[in-house]
Amino acid sequence: MSKAIQAIRGMNDLLPDTLALWQRIEQEALDVLALYGYREIRFPVLEKTELYKRSIGEVTDIVEKEMYTFEDRNGDSLTLRPEGTAGCVRAGVENGLLYNQVQRLWYAGPMFRHERPQKGRYRQFHQIGVEAFGMSSPDVDAELILMSARLWHALGIRGLELQINTLGTPAARAAYRQVLVEYLRSHVDQLDDDSRRRLDMNPLRVLDSKHPAMQDIIAAAPSLQDHLDAESVEHFAALRHYLDSAKISYRVNPRLVRGLDYYTRTVFEWVTTELGAQGTICAGGRYDGLVEQLGGQSTPAAGFAIGLERLVELALLQQLTGANVSPQVYIAVLGGSEAVREGLGQAERLRDSGIRIELNCGGGSLKSQLKRADRSGAYYALLIGDDELTRRAATLKNLRAEEPQQPVEFDRLPEYFRDRLAVGDKS
Ligand code: ATP
Ligand code: MG
Repeated sequence: MSKAIQAIRGMNDLLPDTLALWQRIEQEALDVLALYGYREIRFPVLEKTELYKRSIGEVTDIVEKEMYTFEDRNGDSLTLRPEGTAGCVRAGVENGLLYNQVQRLWYAGPMFRHERPQKGRYRQFHQIGVEAFGMSSPDVDAELILMSARLWHALGIRGLELQINTLGTPAARAAYRQVLVEYLRSHVDQLDDDSRRRLDMNPLRVLDSKHPAMQDIIAAAPSLQDHLDAESVEHFAALRHYLDSAKISYRVNPRLVRGLDYYTRTVFEWVTTELGAQGTICAGGRYDGLVEQLGGQSTPAAGFAIGLERLVELALLQQLTGANVSPQVYIAVLGGSEAVREGLGQAERLRDSGIRIELNCGGGSLKSQLKRADRSGAYYALLIGDDELTRRAATLKNLRAEEPQQPVEFDRLPEYFRDRLAVGDKS
């Protein structure tokens, strides 16, 4: 036997037992998105590297060190998507979805970042992303937040804190940038290497540094809030008013800047303290300049992305479970091809009635078939052998409760289970 090949570090297999919860979360998200009029869009996982450089920003963690970038056989530089907004905007512009109209879109799928793998941080991870185009007023910012809150509620997720902030307009940020650079220069000997480099290229990023030694300097830095333009202040006040009226509690965190360059005005995160350092479950904000920056007509936009691995981890901690999709009835087949033929036929008829059936394929002794039946999670086993064929009735065995075995006529099977499983499958 040759040595088995292993998966790439930081890229996980998702196995059937966990996926029941993933599917429940995804289904709940789909339902909530539909309630708000969002429609799905799908775009490739590979794009030209240029797309991410132009949108996320050259001097960001993602573009500087996290992208999976390679040359394809034609020598073109391609990148596995590290996030969805850039691709969504590219696809929206290219297909004329964003021109002079309002669009509410969502997407879901894998994202790729070459980070140090640890709990809640992987190299392939999954997001559900939402983008709203063509609306500049804070009502849609509030609606996005309400929609995410509704999802937590629908799922039964508790204890998330909403943090919000405003980054102002690009002009206000430019003014603030000067003040910040002066401050950081006066502390240049205390900056780490990354921050020193960013001082000139992208000083706001310094505020996003996770470096422990930097936290005091960041805390004492001048605040962007003191340099905001009047319109952004008003926009933010309106958002807070809408959230207050909707009884959504939040904390204004003036240090919340987000790791991507394209944000303007509103930014927000939903954070838990239950997952350690990787506590942000959902993050987003407004990015009014991005569509134009990517070659579209100037279009205001706002959105967010949910990190599914973190949400699933939190859901598990809070004892949430997925839908039960185990078979309800296991059909054991004993005897020759006549019994198999009958088993195949009865299984199809029961499935026609919406009953989940696992059919024993490949034969085996009664004992081994009943063992498989038990492991399948089914509530009942149906035995079909020579006697049953003669009597035209299967033998029913309750796998989860003491109950004598009994014959059930083939003709009556669907009706029998319809009545019983309504009660029996609450397991
Ligand atoms: P962080 O500060 O945790 O690195 P980020 O600001 O880079 O997050 P975004 O780009 O805003 O994250 O992505 C939105 C969400 O996607 C995050 O809040 C998180 O839940 C999830 N996420 C981001 N990177 C990863 C990763 N490497 N592994 C798992 N989930 C991730
Ligand atoms: Mg990150």
